[in-house]
Amino acid sequence: MSNERFSRQSFLGPDSDQKIGRCTIGVPGLGGGGSHVIQQLAHVGFQNYVIYDGDVVEESNLNRLVGAKSIDVPAQTPKLHLAKMMILGLQPQARIKGFAGTWQDNPEPLRECQIVIGCVDSYQGRHELEVACRRYMMHYIDIGMDVHGQDPPVIGGQVILSSPGNLCMRCMGFLTDQRIAEETARYGKAGTRPQVVWPNGVLASTAVGLVIDIVTGWTRRALDHAYLVYDGNAGTLKESVTLRHLEVGACPHFLAGDVGDPVLIEL
Ligand SMILES: [Zn+2]
Repeated sequence: MSNERFSRQSFLGPDSDQKIGRCTIGVPGLGGGGSHVIQQLAHVGFQNYVIYDGDVVEESNLNRLVGAKSIDVPAQTPKLHLAKMMILGLQPQARIKGFAGTWQDNPEPLRECQIVIGCVDSYQGRHELEVACRRYMMHYIDIGMDVHGQDPPVIGGQVILSSPGNLCMRCMGFLTDQRIAEETARYGKAGTRPQVVWPNGVLASTAVGLVIDIVTGWTRRALDHAYLVYDGNAGTLKESVTLRHLEVGACPHFLAGDVGDPVLIEL
């Protein structure tokens, strides 16, 4: 790519454009959060993508789906197509492996990634992605937002980095059996969750910032885990209080040997 394109981000390091160009990044879920993530990755210069989404654009998506236009509703444009157009419009040479479905339908291509940004709805879905990322030694970055309560409604969200060999989402107090069980019990009764564009923008931008730090190391800090909590009412993003009080040395949930393809033993 031309040096001119990178001239305003040269502080990332002399070989940062090559590092960014070599990295393969996975984005399962190309809705509200994922669409922001894709847009920014493409601007920054990422060239290798593994992306998943089986949905088409609906009227109710237009309040937050970056890149979508009104015409995409009657045209029933796949979100996957929007993401590809976003990437190729900025990076015509990009290599995109795109799948119109969930990553679980087609998990092998995801294993090529070094970093996966999960923009999925459920705790169970997050758990499954983290397990896959640990097994194939990929960094996992989770983003999500929620609106709860009334008078006033409260917008919350999180950005979490779970890296192989370091603290996981259970260690950091985000994933718990109770949360997964409560979600399973609510299944089918949750209704449509509120989702808006600006918290997704904050969370996606923060996730992409972590990606750039992992790939280029430009901040020169040791980045082995992160749990940032977004308060959409106050407009702040702070390290999780739970994380601050943690005294976990090493992750007991993922063992060092649990990597690669599970070995099938024939009897
Ligand atoms: Zn753990």
